Amino acid sequence: MSPDALTGGCLCGAVRFELTEPPAIAGYCHCTRCQRRTGTSSSAQALVDRGALTIVQGEQLVQGWCHPDGGMEKCFCRSCGAHLFSRAPDGGARMTVRLSAFDADPGVRPSFRAFVADAASWEPIPDDGLERFEEARAG
Ligand SMILES: [Zn+2]
Ligand SMILES: [Zn+2]
Repeated sequence: MSPDALTGGCLCGAVRFELTEPPAIAGYCHCTRCQRRTGTSSSAQALVDRGALTIVQGEQLVQGWCHPDGGMEKCFCRSCGAHLFSRAPDGGARMTVRLSAFDADPGVRPSFRAFVADAASWEPIPDDGLERFEEARAG
């Protein structure tokens, strides 16, 4: 493990990863897919460069799933079901890591809310002043 690496993993501990660069940006995603996969109203996640993340243990348990209509590949532990990260299905650099997967404070704080047009009817979006995007975060 690199000395400054941020570490994380799944609920059962079989999958472990490390991040060699601290994430610079994080946000909440309120999209319907994130609601369904998490069982909550939104998903807190950090945007990272794919090259900065290494799966150090349990890669064979990392299951990816892509919606038939496209979008990021959502990756979770096949053993415990914990959500870990999402990545561009074409192998591109875009990746997000679920903030819940980090062992310790990843440093970054969510600064925006995306897909608020799809926000859950049963939980108001907090009036926290974070930048909001109707759909995907612009820029
Ligand atoms: Zn697991
Ligand atoms: Zn989402």
